[in-house]
Amino acid sequence: MGFVLKPAALPSVAVENSTDRFAVRRIFCVGRNYAEHAREMGHDPDAEPPFFFNKPADAVIDSGHTIPYPAATIELHHEAELVVALGAGGAFVSTDKAKALIWGYAAGNDLTRRDLQAEAKAARRPWDMAKGFDNSAVVGPLRPAVLGKPSGRIRCLVDGKLTQDADLGEMIWSVAGIIGHLSRLVTLQPGDLIFTGTPAGIGPIARGQLCEVQIDGLQPASVRLV
Ligand code: MN
Repeated sequence: MGFVLKPAALPSVAVENSTDRFAVRRIFCVGRNYAEHAREMGHDPDAEPPFFFNKPADAVIDSGHTIPYPAATIELHHEAELVVALGAGGAFVSTDKAKALIWGYAAGNDLTRRDLQAEAKAARRPWDMAKGFDNSAVVGPLRPAVLGKPSGRIRCLVDGKLTQDADLGEMIWSVAGIIGHLSRLVTLQPGDLIFTGTPAGIGPIARGQLCEVQIDGLQPASVRLV
């Protein structure tokens, strides 16, 4: 059996200190996983727990690229996030077994068409076109989980100006908790990436600007807009 069209190349992300790459299967994202960010978006973090949305796998882009300012928006926002890469899958994974699924960690930027997201929210429509556009998942080089779980600060800098600055410990759901919850909604698979939510301080990136997400112990995820 063949294919009527040549299959597309697998989307993938870089691995630190390696020429091998991590093939990406799916991209899941957590909404509202830091209390201050939930409040800045007009929600009560105690009343409304985190939730999930997706980006297509081929929205992924390595750190260090220059990309065109996305079409159909005048309000492109950055969201600095810890990205978790799964090396094993499972359904109904208990929190204490979740850690065993993790292959690695990276810094990421959940690029967002904030104006389209606001329109979608107001019209009770899906977020796909606000979140899942070309190059919308910027991911830095993955650091294998065997080297340790990241801790400490997560920051975003736009042209060197600090816009987001929080501690990974401020997450409402821990990484293990996210994997546990998500695995009750879908069967997780090796190659899945999870964006674990952004802290407060989201804001615009203009054409010509460089946006860099930094997480202690990980290589940065940077992107320049033109
Ligand atoms: Mn996000």
